[in-house]
Amino acid sequence: MIYYFRNEFVEESSARISVLSPSVQYGLNVFEGIRAYYNLEENKINVVELNSHIYRLLESAKFLNIKHSYSFTFIRNAIWDTIKLNNLNTDIYLRVVLLFDNSGSWITQDEATLLIVPFNSSPFNILKSPLSAKISSWERINGRSLPPRIKAGANYLNSRLAQQEVKSSGFDMAIFLNSNGFVSEAPGSCIFLIKNGEFYTPSLNSSILGSITRSIVINIVDQILNKKVFELNLERIDFYQANEVFLCGTAIEITPIKSLDHIVYEEDTLTRKIMKVYHDFILGKIYLNNSEIFDL
Ligand code: PMP
Repeated sequence: MIYYFRNEFVEESSARISVLSPSVQYGLNVFEGIRAYYNLEENKINVVELNSHIYRLLESAKFLNIKHSYSFTFIRNAIWDTIKLNNLNTDIYLRVVLLFDNSGSWITQDEATLLIVPFNSSPFNILKSPLSAKISSWERINGRSLPPRIKAGANYLNSRLAQQEVKSSGFDMAIFLNSNGFVSEAPGSCIFLIKNGEFYTPSLNSSILGSITRSIVINIVDQILNKKVFELNLERIDFYQANEVFLCGTAIEITPIKSLDHIVYEEDTLTRKIMKVYHDFILGKIYLNNSEIFDL
């Protein structure tokens, strides 16, 4: 694969940074994980919500005062060029990162450099296996310490602690509570519950990332099912009382949860319906207002 790095296209072996970079030493970077799906019938690649991802990357950099010289359009063109240059007509996962390539401190005022890495990814699996989940004893980082709304590498240390804990107890996925005791999110995805046909998800001020997939699901529920998603402070007990629970995120797509702690969910009908519509959306087969998909 050809990467975009230090303002040129290079082989993976040439994309090297200093071991003393603050990105290595302190996890100082902001990044996006983006998926592009290959639509076999129409022979085109749809990059899902590219504008939203670039916008969030630039916002994350701004909040951490990470300086750089890249405009929105520049990054968008560099992503397209990377996809084209690699001649990819498969499903792709793209990592887009602003990082520091030279040695420096955590308070560095150097300019960050842009890295774009494409990976071949597995195709969307509509029959995804449901996961067992457990509330972690680790609290989610919060807006008074390290805001989860900034998508920075260092945030994933908090994710690692929680995921490691529940994995070692035999569960597939950790769920965080926030510092107010409400449910926030999973280590790398957002969470929804369905109760009596209504959809609920933790509000943006529940210590969550402003997930792009979460917005897509809200649009699907609104525009396809003609219902409003309730964005609230949700308690653990709300999830215990739910009929269905699912996770969403760029990497995990839509994945049902089969159990939370000792509670088992018997149903997944509406979750499967959301999965089906999401699948059509990411292949560019349906259009949702407030969303954009780009053809290459
Ligand atoms: N929360 C966290 C902590 C994440 O890392 C991710 C993955 N980016 C998400 C939620 C889902 O966000 P998105 O839908 O934008 O991928």
